[in-house]
Amino acid sequence: MRCRIKATNDLWFEVDAESEDDLFKQISRVQEVFSHSNCGKCSSPNVKFVCRHDSSENDWLEVVCKDCRAKVIFGRTKKGGLIYPKIRWDQLSEKQQEQRINEKAYADNNRGYLPDKGWFIYKPNAAK
Ligand SMILES: [Zn+2]
Repeated sequence: MRCRIKATNDLWFEVDAESEDDLFKQISRVQEVFSHSNCGKCSSPNVKFVCRHDSSENDWLEVVCKDCRAKVIFGRTKKGGLIYPKIRWDQLSEKQQEQRINEKAYADNNRGYLPDKGWFIYKPNAAK
């Protein structure tokens, strides 16, 4: 079974699946991981995929808004190395939770989901 999946206006995927089950999973991956056509903060369509490296050679995946500088960050599953956008409070690392403590009240009231679909403007000292 071949299928074309539209993620955004600029991004299409072609997948080839053996079964409906496999096709379903591939579509869900494309939609979860790559369907970021608008900034969650300001709704601009001006977003780009970015891979950053820090001083310890870790790489960071994020989708960044070129207009308001908000971003949504990605995590990796321990098993299988899949990536996923961090859109829930419990997906943030301890350090990220500290930096984004002002989003906790929203998450507590919204079944754990972060405001603005996980998009935020990075402030190293947001806690105060
Ligand atoms: Zn924006």
